[in-house]
Amino acid sequence: MSHPGMPGTQPGPDGKPAGPVGAAGPASPEQALAELRAGNRRFVTGEPRHPNQDAGRRAAVADGQQPFAVIVGCSDSRLAAEIIFDRGLGDLFVVRTAGHTVGPEVLGSVEYAITVLGTPLVVVLGHDSCGAVQAAREADATGTQPPGHLGAVVDAVVPSLRRADAEGVADLDGIVDIHIAQTVEAMLDRSEALAGAVAAGRCAVVGMSYRLAAGEVRTVAGAGDLTAADPAARAAA
Ligand SMILES: [Zn+2]
Repeated sequence: MSHPGMPGTQPGPDGKPAGPVGAAGPASPEQALAELRAGNRRFVTGEPRHPNQDAGRRAAVADGQQPFAVIVGCSDSRLAAEIIFDRGLGDLFVVRTAGHTVGPEVLGSVEYAITVLGTPLVVVLGHDSCGAVQAAREADATGTQPPGHLGAVVDAVVPSLRRADAEGVADLDGIVDIHIAQTVEAMLDRSEALAGAVAAGRCAVVGMSYRLAAGEVRTVAGAGDLTAADPAARAAA
């Protein structure tokens, strides 16, 4: 149900808005993370509100966008960001590659969102049973380089495999968590714009792992002041 005159607003069954809309979206990293967590809870419990997916919202954001979170996620078809966080048009700036591997184009896209669009939160989103991490592990174990550009994906995951070895982590999902944390750190190391925005408190980075069967996200890494919204983000930093 939509309200004429309030483009983009889409109350849930209880009449409360499902979340901020338009220019009034979350402005701080903490608010943005809280919004994502609330949307994921709705998704997990089977009570999604599908906010900001109507014609009113489409019209409201046609002339500009202010997404409140950047999602750097795995391309896995079961990890659709707007679905698992129960959001809609104009909410999330999404970059996805196999195994959330990060190259120059990904970093440039993230920098565009945080510097031009003013997005306050960057989420690295991995998941259990990640095929890209598994493929990298197999290629590394057998010493075989995959054909074509697949090698670039494997090469980007190898540092996480080494770190898992050093930490004595051998199970795939444990390696995935390390790869998520490694991706957060690699982005901060390689992007001055991102590191600067985090240092200035304008932005935070959080690493999350999604469980394919349960549908829930869990925080496994973070940088920036997110303590108020998610103590795990600070603890994992
Ligand atoms: Zn994956």
